[in-house]
Amino acid sequence: MITMLLDGNKRFVSDVFDRERDYFEELAKQQRPTVLWIGCSDSRVPVNTITQTRPGEIFVHRNVGNIVATNDWNLSAVLEFSINHLEIPDIIICGHYGCGGIAALDEENEDDRYIPIWLNNAYKARERVDDKLKGLHMDIPPEQRMNLIVEENVRLQLEHLKEYPFVRTAMNSKRLSLHGWVYDMSVGDIKVVQRNNTVYRE
Ligand SMILES: [Zn+2]
Repeated sequence: MITMLLDGNKRFVSDVFDRERDYFEELAKQQRPTVLWIGCSDSRVPVNTITQTRPGEIFVHRNVGNIVATNDWNLSAVLEFSINHLEIPDIIICGHYGCGGIAALDEENEDDRYIPIWLNNAYKARERVDDKLKGLHMDIPPEQRMNLIVEENVRLQLEHLKEYPFVRTAMNSKRLSLHGWVYDMSVGDIKVVQRNNTVYRE
C-alpha cells in the first residue's frame, strides 16, 4: 500500500502537476481558500472528490465524527487561522450517514480510552433525537434513527462553533456564514441540513 502511494505521487507529478503547472506554481506562492471544511476522518468522505474542488480551494479539518470541541486546541487553532488570518467567509460542518463515530455513541467498549472522551462532545445529539422520538411515541428503524442522530450532530457542532467569541464576532459583522451538510455515501449526494446565515444574538 505504501509503495502504491509513492507510485501514485509519481503519476501525479507526471500527469496532473505537469499538465497544470501554471496553476500549481501560482498556488505554491500563496493559498486563498474560501471555505473551511470540518468533516469526518472517514476515508469514504474525501472532500475534494465529493465536491469536485481543486487543491487550494478548501481549508480542511477532519476528526472522528466531525466534532467541534471548544477545548480542542487543534480545531481552535484551525478556526483562528481560518477566520482571522485567511479571512475565510464560509464554514461547512459535514457529517455523513453510516458514521462509525456516531454509531459508537450507542456502544460501550471498555478497551477504548480516548474515543468515549472525544464522543462526550456528541452525546447530546443522540439524547435530543431519542427524546424527540419518545415524545412523539415514534418507533423508527435503527438505521433511520442513526441518520437523524448524524443530522442532529451537525446542528449540535454548529452550536459549539458559535461558542467561540471570534466566530460570533465574525458572524455579527457578516464576515462569516455557517453551513451544515450531511453526505450520503450510498448515492454520493450531499443534503443541506442547516443554512445558517442568521446573525447570532447574545
Ligand atoms: Zn464518520
